[in-house]
Amino acid sequence: MKEQIKELSRQFDCFYIYEERAILAHIRQMKENFPSAAFLYSMKCNPHPGVLKSIFSQGFGADAASLGEVMMAEAAGLSKEQIYYSAPGKTRTDIEGALERSVLIADSIGEVERIREAARRRNAVAKIGIRINPDFTLQGSGGAASKFGIDEAQAEKLARREADGFVKIVGIHIHVKSQELDAEVLGTYYKKIIRLAERFQTLCGGLEFVNMGSGMGVPYAADDRKLDIKALGKTVEEALASFRARYPDTKILLETGRYAVCKSGFYITKVIDRKESYGKTYLILKNTLNGFIRPSLERLILHYAASENPTGMEPLFTSRDAFGFFALKEEAVERVTLVGNLCTAADVAAEDILLPRLEPGDCIVMTNAGSYAAVLSPMQFSSQERPAELFLASDGEIRDERGNRIENGKE
Ligand SMILES: *Cc1c(COP(=O)(O)O)cnc(C)c1O
Repeated sequence: MKEQIKELSRQFDCFYIYEERAILAHIRQMKENFPSAAFLYSMKCNPHPGVLKSIFSQGFGADAASLGEVMMAEAAGLSKEQIYYSAPGKTRTDIEGALERSVLIADSIGEVERIREAARRRNAVAKIGIRINPDFTLQGSGGAASKFGIDEAQAEKLARREADGFVKIVGIHIHVKSQELDAEVLGTYYKKIIRLAERFQTLCGGLEFVNMGSGMGVPYAADDRKLDIKALGKTVEEALASFRARYPDTKILLETGRYAVCKSGFYITKVIDRKESYGKTYLILKNTLNGFIRPSLERLILHYAASENPTGMEPLFTSRDAFGFFALKEEAVERVTLVGNLCTAADVAAEDILLPRLEPGDCIVMTNAGSYAAVLSPMQFSSQERPAELFLASDGEIRDERGNRIENGKE
């Protein structure tokens, strides 16, 4: 990988690279540890066509967060039954466009009504899921106010009176938090979802699917503990055994974005200039905040945060020191501050870190850039050239975000 990155850096001044091998390894782990679940890929974290093709080829369906993603999943070859569209605030256009292309998951009672209207206009029954905001959180009991989903008590009422013919609730979706690394906490949480699903089986008169959402985290910072996916798989499979015996026709879905792709991605950019100012060494890089915003956001958020690790800010903020910075050459180390080429003082990727001495033209590699990286960065700011997004397939072929093949090693 290091050699390939070096070669590519002769053609590209800044780029993302996603390595298929790493994606497939993570997918294998998920499938091995949750044999009775089916998986959905949360496209919003990285919709690169190479990534989609690779993940969908492994039997994953799509967790789409917009009509655009529904269409991309359809174009990638998924059937209606494999595309689940769950997001707050779907417009009438979104609903009309997605009704025949995906399984709609209503995020509010108003949305159920809008779907009902769309179905009535077509004179066809819409089989939908509802996203439930449960009476528990990841860590404890008691629900919390949320812009996502329908509160459990309201959802119960809805399920009871849902009988007018144009809308049929055939599934439920619960997703309350991302990036959890504690298998015990997650296991307990999934068990609560399974109990909730049992109640809704009865309320809805049978469910075609239970989407248990995501939650599985990846280690970002060097001292993050890796999620024990084996232990989690064991807990969930045990809890699912009796559920599946009673409801063998209900599909159990797990979603993931980051677990599949975060670690597969790197962001590479180049030193354009170096300068000393009042005793500080600055390396000025191409496209930092605008190419990969999250390291800069982490600094900004921590600067203003009252607590050490503010929560509830995923995927904009994960944790302190969530991103690593590496050089591709060995030199004596020096203390440097990495800044970008934008005309704002907020464009700082890292402050006072140790790196081998770098000169203009040398590369910096940033880690954890496979998920919520390119998609979150404001690449239009100051009309800079956007970073390329490259996909390195297991067979060595490299393609960019438009599907063009890249000849590596040739100038
Ligand atoms: C974004 C999102 C996910 C993916 O979360 P990850 O932490 O990347 O796995 C899953 N489900 C829903 C509903 C989401 O909005």
